[in-house]
Amino acid sequence: MRQSGRSTDVDSLATGLARDRFPLLARTIGDRPLHYLDTAATSQKPEAVLAALAHFYRHQNANVHRGLNTLAEEATEAYERCRRRVAGWVGAPDAAGVVITRGATSSLNLLAHGLEHLLLPGDEILLTEMEHHANLVPWQMLARRRGLQLRFIPVRDDGELDLDRLPELLGERTRVVSLVHASNVLGTVNPVAEVADRSRQRGILTVVDAAQSAGHLPLDFAAVGADFLVFSAHKAYGPMGLGFLVARPEALERLEPLEGGGEMIEWVDLESSTWAEVPRRFEAGTPNVAAAAAFPAAIDLIEELGAPAIRRHEAAVTAYALDCLQDLGGLTIYGPADSERRGGLVSFWDPLVHPHDLSTILDRHGVVVRAGHHCAQPLHRRLGVPATTRASFGLYTRRDDIDALIEGIRDARKVFAR
Ligand code: PMP
Repeated sequence: MRQSGRSTDVDSLATGLARDRFPLLARTIGDRPLHYLDTAATSQKPEAVLAALAHFYRHQNANVHRGLNTLAEEATEAYERCRRRVAGWVGAPDAAGVVITRGATSSLNLLAHGLEHLLLPGDEILLTEMEHHANLVPWQMLARRRGLQLRFIPVRDDGELDLDRLPELLGERTRVVSLVHASNVLGTVNPVAEVADRSRQRGILTVVDAAQSAGHLPLDFAAVGADFLVFSAHKAYGPMGLGFLVARPEALERLEPLEGGGEMIEWVDLESSTWAEVPRRFEAGTPNVAAAAAFPAAIDLIEELGAPAIRRHEAAVTAYALDCLQDLGGLTIYGPADSERRGGLVSFWDPLVHPHDLSTILDRHGVVVRAGHHCAQPLHRRLGVPATTRASFGLYTRRDDIDALIEGIRDARKVFAR
């Protein structure tokens, strides 16, 4: 068995962190133990989150901000507690700056719509070549509606953004810069604070897509310095159908709401309406109250283990996985070579086995990975491959998960070499 280069993390490599709190990880696939390597698609949920979900439906199950009764009051308190917990966790200056959404995608659509009235034809939005479709398509839709130009920070061959191009790309007409914190394909951790700082100096709004960093890298809204930060709960050990848009309340005031309906209004006439205060202005309809009631249990776990310890563990797993994959030979591994420069995932291309075939064979080994373009088609075109295989890690990932991955790849190569 191999040892990681980072001796301080060898212990957690063998056991994972708090692995026994994730009941699903004890299941099997056929007769094999499950090796879950798809946390970047969605993380598994700790028992405390599952219990909180059930608790909500068993004991409260009421709509929020409606009804003067005990159930409605408890549901509203649980929902608002989530907002306060998220604000405290990510260092938001004010819980009134936290919009509760259905996920990172909803948050980005809200933004791309909400900023529309501030933009004029010919204005520019700067993105990067490594964006997830969620941080690309909403801006394309906006650009089409409003006659805007999209520009892109290129990705260098080493998987880093080419920030030398920034002075020329941040032009007179640039109004918004939106970029991913940690790439869901390359793993690259982008210097978002630097980009936000350079943009702010020119009065440009910045958006940071923290979908892959929340729960995995230490995340501090004030330190990032962006105007808007978005993420989903389900990749940070919380439930699906819940996400956040974090901003200063004054920044939210500048956005137009995307969805109209109940809860987001102050006064409604037959012909027109006025909006509620932020952030409720952006929360039309019945939200996922159960998910919001349960997410604080995930934050509790992250805070109990400590964001730096989770980061150290995931970096050690990544270093170990990079070593093992390199030793296999013949693979193209994407993203920065240094595990300190990347989040907890590795994407690769094996010329001997197509990613779809590889993931099918890995499944027979109990190893769950993701094969495809990972909602980043332009990036895959830039890399020159139709698809990659991605193994992604969480606080619970152990060395034997990586060992099973490597054994599975060896097996797949034998099958396809015949
Ligand atoms: N951005 C990135 C970088 C992602 O990895 C994802 C999810 N794969 C998203 C945005 C969208 O998240 P969701 O599907 O939870 O809305």
